Amino acid sequence: MSTVLVTGGTGFIGSHTVIALDKSGFDVVIADNLSNSKTEVLKRLHTICGKDFRFYKADCCKREELEPVFRENKIDAVIHFAGLKAVGESVSKPLEYYSNNINSLLTLVGLMKDYKVDELVFSSSATVYGESEDVPFTEESPLGMCTNPYGWTKWMQEQMLRDFSKAYPEFKIALLRYFNPVGAHESGLLGEDPRGIPNNLFPYISKVAGGTLEKLTIFGGDYDTEDGTCLRDYIHVMDLAEGHVKAINYLATNDTGINVFNLGTGKGTSVLEAVRAFEKACGHEINKEIGPRRPGDIAVSYASTEKAEKLLGFKATRTVEEMCSSCWNWQTKNPDGLPDDN
Ligand code: NAD
Ligand code: UDP
Repeated sequence: MSTVLVTGGTGFIGSHTVIALDKSGFDVVIADNLSNSKTEVLKRLHTICGKDFRFYKADCCKREELEPVFRENKIDAVIHFAGLKAVGESVSKPLEYYSNNINSLLTLVGLMKDYKVDELVFSSSATVYGESEDVPFTEESPLGMCTNPYGWTKWMQEQMLRDFSKAYPEFKIALLRYFNPVGAHESGLLGEDPRGIPNNLFPYISKVAGGTLEKLTIFGGDYDTEDGTCLRDYIHVMDLAEGHVKAINYLATNDTGINVFNLGTGKGTSVLEAVRAFEKACGHEINKEIGPRRPGDIAVSYASTEKAEKLLGFKATRTVEEMCSSCWNWQTKNPDGLPDDN
């Protein structure tokens, strides 16, 4: 049985990926510093998977905290989710973002080199395509100028891994560029649990639907799209999780070097369409108004999914309706999110 280290494994995408890995027969070790997640996630993973996962409370930037994971386990591959990800916060706290995201990758890859663990799946983002409006984005689309420090950290992490791969060609690296991950596990036990007021569309709609927030502001109704609102490629987090399993399997049997894959559905959904789908899922209207555009937003973003389909055998299957109903199930079962650690 192969053992996969999942850094950031108690976070949103990481925890869902742990479920998918476990279901596919992988042995999973989790490392997370809990800066944006809670130990309750481990209890819920136990309920869903019927087992405890080995967990290290470790800051990936600190070699002395991460090294025991490599020393005490025979790791075959790593999925690196750990990182800070809030776009707005990255503008006000750029040093924290550069320091955390860059140093965690450097420390991790240094340990992988020393312990001869040579398969890495890295969480990148469609944000690296910058402000281009030449859609769909293919893996060959030029990388753009990012609009915030968070985006630049992804851009730089990708570049660091490309340089690393040249010097250590025996490494197998998958850069997965996620589009817009949303939704929750079907059990309603796990989902996205942002601290404070959410910035992203689906968590925000969920809170308005659940009555915790008063009104959704739709950022711009005058874009050059059919209904005037922005189009995004929303992908169900469980589809995304399964994409990681495909990437791990691909690395085990394929080429060394850098392999880049978009993970999306290939379909754009407008903000208004997303709101309508959510209204259907929750059974009532969502209080909303059209407001001004949000700086830095592009009108349309969706993935070309051809490469992932052809090489990974990955195709997202869950619909926007399923994304909304799983979010709503999660929201109603956990109106205040997960309980805090004591
Ligand atoms: P998340 O915040 O829910 O999960 C990240 C986890 O990493 C958290 O549990 C946090 O505690 C942990 N972490 C942060 N810094 C750490 C460190 N130095 N050491 C150990 N643990 C640390 O975020 P997510 O939505 O699950 O995102 C996972 C990854 O995917 C991130 O790298 C993110 O940038 C990337 N990504 C996310 C999205 C999205 O929309 N959610 C889109 C594209 C890319
Ligand atoms: N959006 C919105 N209101 C909100 C949050 C987001 O209208 O309160 C829009 C945003 O302008 C974008 C889409 O929803 O067009 C998705 O935004 P999100 O922040 O979830 O993801 P992004 O694509 O920006 O990474």
